[in-house]
Amino acid sequence: MDRALARDLGAALASARELAREWLEEGVESFDRESIARSAPRPPSPTQFSLVSEARPWGDAPTLDEVRAALGECTRCRLAQGRTQIVFGDGDPHADLLFVGEGPGEQEDRQGIPFVGRAGELLTQMIEKGLGISRRSVYICNIVKCRPPQNRTPLADEVTSCRPFLDGQIDAVRPRVIVALGKPAASLLLGRDVSITRLRGTWQEYRGTPMMPTFHPAFVLRQYTPENRRLVWEDLKAALARARERGARI
Ligand code: URA
Repeated sequence: MDRALARDLGAALASARELAREWLEEGVESFDRESIARSAPRPPSPTQFSLVSEARPWGDAPTLDEVRAALGECTRCRLAQGRTQIVFGDGDPHADLLFVGEGPGEQEDRQGIPFVGRAGELLTQMIEKGLGISRRSVYICNIVKCRPPQNRTPLADEVTSCRPFLDGQIDAVRPRVIVALGKPAASLLLGRDVSITRLRGTWQEYRGTPMMPTFHPAFVLRQYTPENRRLVWEDLKAALARARERGARI
């Protein structure tokens, strides 16, 4: 079996196990099969995506340049029509910490660099002032590389088109820890719709790499409470500590 497919299937199984664990914690003991069968199928959520997307034209350990070259002047989805430029990623190509956001906003689309708008300023502050490491020492990217119109959440087919390139970035950087910023990133990486409020602060795994889901900085800006700031701060501290336990020298 293709190695990437085997890894994806392994990740799907791990997600299913995690979901079962959440249900157990919530006290779910049984399901009413009849009512599940009768209930109308739910419309696909924006974060649902197909497991198997475009074949990856690189090996197990690509470089970021190879992944960027394979992306090319992408027109795989409709987001290409509205972008000024592709926003691929930023930071150390061998970073120990890799942050995954949602998609470029207006400033990112203009400058070609992820997280440089207001949410980006907050993320940069949390990394530099909070964690005490430089932004250049981490790697930052998004689940889609082109700005969605009006900064809407990327749609399922857009996410699916872009996913091989996110996986390629992760395979190239080989971070010790991944930080998923917000629900769309956490849902994509876990392969199911998650509640970020419930999941944040709990260790997950993406294809063998520990992953910490936390609130998106744009959410923290919208709900700028001491509690939300404290929660994100704790998640980021835990991510850095875990990366260091795993040998990070940042
Ligand atoms: N800027 C980004 O690059 N990504 C986001 O998710 C939000 C703002």
